[in-house]
Amino acid sequence: MVELKSSEEIAKIKESGRIIAKVLKRMQLEVVPGVSTWELDKVAEEMIRAEGAVPSFLGYGGFPGSICTSVNEQVVHGIPSKDVILREGDIVGIDVGAYKDGFHADSARTFSVGKVSASVSQLLANTRKALYKAIEVVKPGVHLGDVSNAVETYATASGLGIVRDYCGHGVGRKLHEDPCILNYGPKGKGIILKEGMVLAIEPMLNLGCDEVEVLEDQWTVVTADGAYSAHFEHTVAVTKNGALILTE
Ligand code: MG
Ligand code: MG
Repeated sequence: MVELKSSEEIAKIKESGRIIAKVLKRMQLEVVPGVSTWELDKVAEEMIRAEGAVPSFLGYGGFPGSICTSVNEQVVHGIPSKDVILREGDIVGIDVGAYKDGFHADSARTFSVGKVSASVSQLLANTRKALYKAIEVVKPGVHLGDVSNAVETYATASGLGIVRDYCGHGVGRKLHEDPCILNYGPKGKGIILKEGMVLAIEPMLNLGCDEVEVLEDQWTVVTADGAYSAHFEHTVAVTKNGALILTE
């Protein structure tokens, strides 16, 4: 069942989202050649706690990090580590969740480390654009499939693989709530969006095939063909005027 949130509840999610946006903005400065993903995790955790919030992912299902850091062919759920040092030309997806006053928000962005190749730069730009194409569709009365289809249409036109084994989700008192928001599928299908729904929309797009695998650490999702993958995510509220982004 998809829970509807009151305007007071949405304001609380927006406060958690504000903290995440601040962390991701800072990450833009921290992501440089030579930094470890563990260092990024520590900076993020400190910022989240300084705001009186808690990192949503720390301990979630046993996850050991405060944020997820997914490098190059890693799609999502990469574990921050002192052994993972970012190098010029890498990309890193940083996924941040914050929990404050009873409510979570969730957002991710993929950063380039120094200068990256033109095709990788396009991957990042197009994955971000696919997210915004989906957000533009959001309003009361449309089908969830219309949102999914917007991602698929843009990704396909851009020649990118679409990760099908993971999806976006509702967010609120719990980090992952109904509905599951696929990044592909036909228009006109699925639930009808209503004012008060809060959704984390998160395209995961690849320079190669759609298929992914999970590494032996039981967390890190990687592309099956080793091609680079990007991930952008916002938490949005469905309002009568369309989507209100709560994490920027
Ligand atoms: Mg996320
Ligand atoms: Mg999410």
